[in-house]
Amino acid sequence: MAKVFNWQLGREMEYPYEAPRPERQFTMIMDTNKCIACQSCTIACKSTWTWGRGQEYMLWNNIETKPYGFYPIGWDVNVLSLLGTQAWEGETYGGETVFEAAPDGERVLGWSPDEADWNHPNLGEDEPTGDGTVTYVPEKPHSMAWMYYLQRICNHCTYPACVAACPREAIYKRPEDGIVLVDQTRCRGYQECVQACPYKKTMFNLETRVSEKCIGCFPKIEQGLQTQCTTVCIGRLRLTNFLSTPDKADPRKPADFLVHVKKIALPLYPQLGLEPNVYYIPPVHVPVEYTSQMFGPGVQNAIDAYLGAKDDPELLGLLMLFGATERIMDTFAVRDGIAYAYDEAGEEIVSVPVQEPTIVRPFDYPTELAGEPATGFLHNT
Ligand code: SF4
Ligand code: SF4
Ligand code: SF4
Repeated sequence: MAKVFNWQLGREMEYPYEAPRPERQFTMIMDTNKCIACQSCTIACKSTWTWGRGQEYMLWNNIETKPYGFYPIGWDVNVLSLLGTQAWEGETYGGETVFEAAPDGERVLGWSPDEADWNHPNLGEDEPTGDGTVTYVPEKPHSMAWMYYLQRICNHCTYPACVAACPREAIYKRPEDGIVLVDQTRCRGYQECVQACPYKKTMFNLETRVSEKCIGCFPKIEQGLQTQCTTVCIGRLRLTNFLSTPDKADPRKPADFLVHVKKIALPLYPQLGLEPNVYYIPPVHVPVEYTSQMFGPGVQNAIDAYLGAKDDPELLGLLMLFGATERIMDTFAVRDGIAYAYDEAGEEIVSVPVQEPTIVRPFDYPTELAGEPATGFLHNT
């Protein structure tokens, strides 16, 4: 195995190949606090990419309620149980990754879902856990019943387990943008990728007998546009962007600012070792013991930064730019209460106010109508 540096783990790790980083890396940021589980993203992906033969139950994008939601059933608890203790020493991961813990003769520690495990994408939807007698109070947010929505697509990992496991070299990472694709003409349907991907984001098509996965909406990315699941998002909580490594972080670039400068957006299960490239602003109302296992040691810092955004115009301005344009932002700036997004030529794409204007309409409640006393609230008066 080759030694590669995984900055999310703060250390080198073993990976089956020498894996050069792409020229730039596709990334998505999700603000879990704003999701309403409307599934518009799921349907946008499905109606664009997976409406064909054998794709009936295939959801490249899914929204699951944590802690009880899974697609497929048990995807994360299964791999975490296999991996054993996952200890962090500060910001350095001290446990093993799925590559380092691979059984003899295999490249990745994995498991295979049963066909039926894919049949219940809304399992556990809206089911809370915790102390059900107390509702959310900001000063004491952890003594409560809680659940939250997790937005899941392929992570277009820097060190993809699907690529590592494929005996046909049918899966590849594009050098121009880091998007991970399956060459279906090379795939022979061995499903090694399905077993290896700990996020279970490669899926087997029972009709065509080859594997498929989220394609990062690459035809849109090539035109400078954000993905389908981003542009339809009702909650305006998604951002499609490109991410640098920490040593090359540019604070003018949206993803670099959120991931490397503010450290407000965190990877999903970084301890698995794939350096996933979808980042999450963690939910502020969920016990940190739970979210730390999911998003690593930076959770409390991310929550503090997020709750402080009201006093941080730059951060607030960037969050307001989410969902404001279909085009991919190259850089952003905040001046005089306005957040601006720019393309690679430095031309302005869009601008939005950092604070939405509040308009209070005058309201007169009529006490008498046509000579009769008014008996109820009149809408649209
Ligand atoms: S999330 Fe899974 S399918 Fe996607 S690149 Fe990573 S290992 Fe491959
Ligand atoms: S990026 Fe595109 S292909 Fe991937 S889940 Fe979103 S809509 Fe589907
Ligand atoms: S469209 Fe946005 S708000 Fe709706 S479920 Fe998807 S991520 Fe959540």
